[in-house]
Amino acid sequence: MGKLFGTFGVRGIANEKITPEFALKMGMAFGTLLKREGRKRPLVIVGRDPRVSGEMLEGALISGLLSVGVDVIDVGIAPTPAIQFACRHFNSDGGAVITASHNPPEYNGIKLLEPNGLGLKKEREAVVEELFFSEDFDRAGWYEIGEVRKEDIIRPYLDAIKSRVDVEVIKRRKPFVVVDTSNGAGSLTLPYLLRELGCKVVSINAHPDGHFPARNPEPNEENLQGFMRIVKALGADFGVAQDGDADRAVFIDENGNFIQGDKTFALVVKAMLQENNGGLVVTTIATSHIIDELARQYNGKVIKTKVGDLIVSRALLEHNGLVGGEENGGVIFPDFVLGRDGAMTTAKIVEIFSKSGKKFSELIEELPRFYQMKTKRHIKGDRHTAVANVARIAEQRGFRLDTTDGTKILFDDGWVLVRASGTEPIIRIFAEARSEEKAEEYLSLGLELLEEALKL
Ligand code: MG
Repeated sequence: MGKLFGTFGVRGIANEKITPEFALKMGMAFGTLLKREGRKRPLVIVGRDPRVSGEMLEGALISGLLSVGVDVIDVGIAPTPAIQFACRHFNSDGGAVITASHNPPEYNGIKLLEPNGLGLKKEREAVVEELFFSEDFDRAGWYEIGEVRKEDIIRPYLDAIKSRVDVEVIKRRKPFVVVDTSNGAGSLTLPYLLRELGCKVVSINAHPDGHFPARNPEPNEENLQGFMRIVKALGADFGVAQDGDADRAVFIDENGNFIQGDKTFALVVKAMLQENNGGLVVTTIATSHIIDELARQYNGKVIKTKVGDLIVSRALLEHNGLVGGEENGGVIFPDFVLGRDGAMTTAKIVEIFSKSGKKFSELIEELPRFYQMKTKRHIKGDRHTAVANVARIAEQRGFRLDTTDGTKILFDDGWVLVRASGTEPIIRIFAEARSEEKAEEYLSLGLELLEEALKL
């Protein structure tokens, strides 16, 4: 039997791998699962980002669901977190999001969701996979075919976010924010949300366009060079940029500097630990130890998981966590949406900024100071074996290790992580320390151990 799903859903080139037939079968398989679990008339939420192939795939997926007797609420183009929110809001039996997140425009994909909006459980995913390949679908009689209705989720989603922050404090400060939603799904939410919160807003690339004509939808420093200049030139308080499906938000300070995702995550963690008098934070092994330091200062606890937003979300649910996040600018507010949420993150950051009365760069400056360095090495052989061999060598040398995901060597003042990429023939090395020299030293150590491991 083939394998369908990656770490969260399935992704590929539209009309090559992700065809209408593919989406149709996916709908039939998911619907059949729900019916066989005993739901008489299941309700599934379907939505998508604005990719060119989105409408075609959405139509096919919905047909598949209807044909097995599932009712559908079609929320149309919306951010992934808004569709996850809709699963709870409409009291659904599950959801499906048609998106390829930050990937280039030719890609698309499908994520399946639990009734609470969390990514589908592994065991249920395995059943969908089996049904997909065996084509063992429970087709409904003509009188039992499902019904579809369109509903707006944008308004309820924005209202829910607004109810979770102090709008009065934001209105008093009236921050000037420049927004770049990369012509993605966030174009329908973020500029409006910020204006309603009382910000002065200038938006660019804010019409949904599945060609992503303005920039690559991955919001990294390389792709945001132009935006960083705009934020500074306009004299804004800060800038915020999103990926194609708007589950991530990354920030630019008033000087046009790109702020690493784990620093904005740290601002949220600091504020929420203070507000709640402590709490449990879930993050990945690759995130800055700024988070650990803040947890020590503000009565928090930290759980570290493997890399992946779905893994962090599951751990938050399981351990009743307060907040979670990753180093790439995705923050998870589990009592709101069980997944990364770019708009909620932005609203929280705007609130923190407004309350503080400080400049954005000053807020970042106040965080515990660590220096980070990253590099990568292309390799030909089995990258997972290489990383395991790094662990063996490091252990022989008496280093303190954490092998939750990859090989992480811990020091009192820093760490280095050697980790295989999930999708490319690359091994990444991250190092972090309290001084620049030490970070450099740990990065070199990681590389050195990797070279040695590759000789085995
Ligand atoms: Mg995304």
